[in-house]
Amino acid sequence: MSSDVRSNFLRTQIQADLDSGKVGALVTRFPPEPNGYLHIGHAKSITVNFGLAEQFGGRCHLRFDDTNPEKESQEYIDSIQEDVRWLGYQWSGEVRFASSYFQQLFDWALLLIEQGLAYVCDLSADEARAYRGTLTEAGQESPYRARSIDENRDLFLRMRAGEFANGERVLRAKIDMASPNINLRDPILYRIRHAEHHQTGNAWPIYPTYDYAHGQEDAIEGITHSICTLEFEDHRPLYEWFLAHLPVVSVPRQIEFARLNTSYTITSKRKLKQLVDDGVVAGWDDPRMPTIAGLRRRGYPPAAIRHFCEEVGTSRSDSIVDVAMLESAVRDELNHTAPRAMCVMNPLRLTLTGLNQVLGLSLANHPADAAFGFRDVEMGAELLIDKDDFRESANKQYKRLVLGKRVRLRGSIVIEAERAETNDAGEVVQVFARCITAVPGEDPEDGIKPKGVIHWVSADRAVPATVRLYDRLFSVADPARAEDFLSVVNPTSLRVVEGAMVEPALVDALPEQVFQFEREGYFVADRFDHSPGAPVFNLTIGLRDTWSAAGG
Ligand code: ATP
Ligand code: MG
Repeated sequence: MSSDVRSNFLRTQIQADLDSGKVGALVTRFPPEPNGYLHIGHAKSITVNFGLAEQFGGRCHLRFDDTNPEKESQEYIDSIQEDVRWLGYQWSGEVRFASSYFQQLFDWALLLIEQGLAYVCDLSADEARAYRGTLTEAGQESPYRARSIDENRDLFLRMRAGEFANGERVLRAKIDMASPNINLRDPILYRIRHAEHHQTGNAWPIYPTYDYAHGQEDAIEGITHSICTLEFEDHRPLYEWFLAHLPVVSVPRQIEFARLNTSYTITSKRKLKQLVDDGVVAGWDDPRMPTIAGLRRRGYPPAAIRHFCEEVGTSRSDSIVDVAMLESAVRDELNHTAPRAMCVMNPLRLTLTGLNQVLGLSLANHPADAAFGFRDVEMGAELLIDKDDFRESANKQYKRLVLGKRVRLRGSIVIEAERAETNDAGEVVQVFARCITAVPGEDPEDGIKPKGVIHWVSADRAVPATVRLYDRLFSVADPARAEDFLSVVNPTSLRVVEGAMVEPALVDALPEQVFQFEREGYFVADRFDHSPGAPVFNLTIGLRDTWSAAGG
């Protein structure tokens, strides 16, 4: 195991199991249900499972836990595989499906029946709930619990043959209706569902429950450590009960860790689906979504997501991690991987009086890394600067262009504003400035240095672009706790700027390429909508954390 990896209880446990010879080689799995797109919480589970396999020289499987056909789809199956690969992982062997074990699971259910450990129950869902008892009261045994093995076998075979309607009967394990652990009160193994399945078609009118299927799937695949989230801790005795009563060759060990929750984020697939279905966002991969596909489209680098997941650690206590930590991991990564470029969001014309030539500039693509190279940029007398970078008068805090004051144009000469032209509404429409220096990079001879640096583009050569300014999707830190999570959607989570002006070189940006637009933030060429003829950039993240600064 490499030394830059932090120790945690999972690694300690696995190391102990390897050292004692309990397991020969580590085998983990990532077992999503294909009923939605993966989100940042799943990224944590992926980095844990694939990361451990990598660190201990083991293997990690990708297995679709596809036992609820009505909610699942091929679109989700495809997106999940794409997301895992994009995060930088490759599963061992073929993609696996719980549904390919349906026959084995069925045969094992028959075996439980033969041992008198499972029975067909005809209680309705409401009745079953009443019989289950509560946390403080024991449950009652179903009147169908005493059915003979022969009758149970016969009824279960008829369930499988499709003789009964949805909900008419279930197969239950016969464990203990008085158990203090409600999961052991004769849990359901099979439900009747006349539903077409994306993998098995109409072969099965009955489907196994998660509890019955999961441990057996792990055992079939030779998983050694079945790592899941804490809500399954109370299911572990059941997980072990099945394995103890079935002729499995290998016995996996279930270990739980705390889910990853980040502030300002919803990670319930059901609610994320609602955001998509209600049109609150443009789709599962909307750059505001906490889905992996959304983060990708937003320009978050996979390495930043992996670092963040490692950084937050793995524990057994639930907490909410400040999403600013994820954003900061993104900034750290992009600061050394993103080339610099200039984009003027709200263009204002700036004319340099007396500049009668075109300056050929060579601008560094990265201020600290010469490996990024340089780009040739031409600067003539007609420029565009941002409206926010000019004021007719201002106090000393304002370090941009002011009438009678100096500023340096990024990578070029020092200028001084002389006069501004306004329209009938009193808005400044054009600024005239004189050149104080002639050679890019030099300081003024009179020693009066400019207060600040502003970015610019050439008015003749710059290209219009659409820029989408994204912000956090929710305006409160814990939207999951809001009575109606849709009511706390941030109304300004997307602002579209048409007619931003970018350096001509940016039309050649490749989809998904991220730049730092100087003084503005990190922006990614949209994966789907960007083209040389119509550039589209998404704000990945600002240069600074404006939420903390605003106390929000
Ligand atoms: P549901 O089961 O309600 O549809 P889920 O989020 O648990 O939703 P799964 O597809 O079952 O979705 O999740 C796949 C794996 O990812 C599981 O092992 C689960 O424990 C893990 N996982 C899901 N959400 C998180 C999270 N927020 N943090 C860490 N792991 C998570
Ligand atoms: Mg789940």
